[in-house]
Amino acid sequence: MSPARFPEYTEFRQEIRAFIERNLTDDMIEAGRLQTSVFPHMKQAIAWQKILHERGWAAPSWPREFGGPGWNAIQQQIFREEACRASAPTIVLQGLTMCGPCLMGHGTQAQQDYYLPRILSAEHIWCQGYSEPGAGSDLASLTTSAVRDGEHYVLNGAKIWTSHAHLATHMFCLVRTSTKGKSQAGITFLLVDMSTPGITVEPIINLNGVHEQNTVFLENVRVPQANRVGEENDGWTVAKYLLEFERGSVCISPELRRNLDVARRGAAQERTSSGERLIDDRVFRRKLAAKDIELSVLEFNERRILSTVASGGSPGVLSSVAKIEGMELLQAIDRLTTEVAGPYSLPLQRGALVPGQGEEPIGPDYALTAMPRYLDGRSVTIAGGTSEVQRGILAKSVLGL
Ligand SMILES: Cc1cc2nc3c(=O)[nH]c(=O)nc-3n(C[C@H](O)[C@H](O)[C@H](O)COP(=O)(O)OP(=O)(O)OC[C@H]3O[C@@H](n4cnc5c(N)ncnc54)[C@H](O)[C@@H]3O)c2cc1C
Repeated sequence: MSPARFPEYTEFRQEIRAFIERNLTDDMIEAGRLQTSVFPHMKQAIAWQKILHERGWAAPSWPREFGGPGWNAIQQQIFREEACRASAPTIVLQGLTMCGPCLMGHGTQAQQDYYLPRILSAEHIWCQGYSEPGAGSDLASLTTSAVRDGEHYVLNGAKIWTSHAHLATHMFCLVRTSTKGKSQAGITFLLVDMSTPGITVEPIINLNGVHEQNTVFLENVRVPQANRVGEENDGWTVAKYLLEFERGSVCISPELRRNLDVARRGAAQERTSSGERLIDDRVFRRKLAAKDIELSVLEFNERRILSTVASGGSPGVLSSVAKIEGMELLQAIDRLTTEVAGPYSLPLQRGALVPGQGEEPIGPDYALTAMPRYLDGRSVTIAGGTSEVQRGILAKSVLGL
């Protein structure tokens, strides 16, 4: 991204760039370069967050009163562009992007005072306990029960697909506190310390062999009532508010712009069967141009979301638009990169199975992550609410269908 894009922010960009260059370690750069999912390599991401926190930049979208830098939308975008340019690990930690904003909107003063500083400093790492084996898109059908016992709730049930539960110190989750009336009306939002007795975490290994998701079993887990966010049986309101941030606040256009550039540069190196450079192939150029245009639309919509949040609002229905656009584009760009890399993107070509190559990967550098990214990308139109469900939300709330 050229600094000329926001000339009035040149000095700000230079400050960010210089800080990143001074502080980002080689290990972190390597982790950023080899990142194959929307989630970062956690160890390096946490280390990077701690460095950013000391500078007051851990949470670019948070307002000053809660410990954020108070940046406007353009400043936030510049920060992400510069982090991306330097291959910093992405900071997509559920505490910063979901739980924190939710507590700002619905938490008590005591919850804000206790949790927000610990989210910023990465002392607390959060995971999200919404989905259950029988409740995904139809989240309101969740059955994990929470029964009052003195000053506590006692939880029993299971959560599934819980990203980073194996590393998290805390989980924000939805539980059923009533079975009367509409299913949405009996849900409560709780903050759970993952070291509480009765919690068991079991791994789910994803398509590209990485451990990010888990099943979390809850057996007689005692959670203080003081850890409830919002009123009992009104957790649906809190949950929906949080989902707007989950879908809308990730803002991945800088990463996608970088990935598209990788595909473009790769295509300048590769040749088609007729010997011409792939980048000069008319059909391929048209595909690249189409993705470039779609990416510009996404950048615009993400800026609208960042502006709304920076002025104290929540992303609203625009978060569903950005979720569909961003995730479908991510898949399309990864598909383009595997097309460019061709056989070099095949896992078989990458390691010890290639005679004479030992553990050394063969092929161009950009191809190394092409297939793992492509495989991981299958999940992004499911996680955080499927594209079909987002389209349903838009049909109802925008088109009035
Ligand atoms: C990589 C990954 C990470 C995740 N991380 C977390 C996490 O950290 N915490 C968490 O709580 N959950 C997490 N999830 C779960 C995720 O939110 C659910 O997978 C998602 O909401 C879909 O639910 P489901 O898997 O039960 O599918 P289902 O709801 O069973 O859907 C199956 C299919 O039916 C379609 N469908 C369902 N309802 C409708 C409808 N009304 N209209 C049209 N089509 C419909 C869906 O689009 C989908 O194609 C994660 C999932 C993935 C893949």
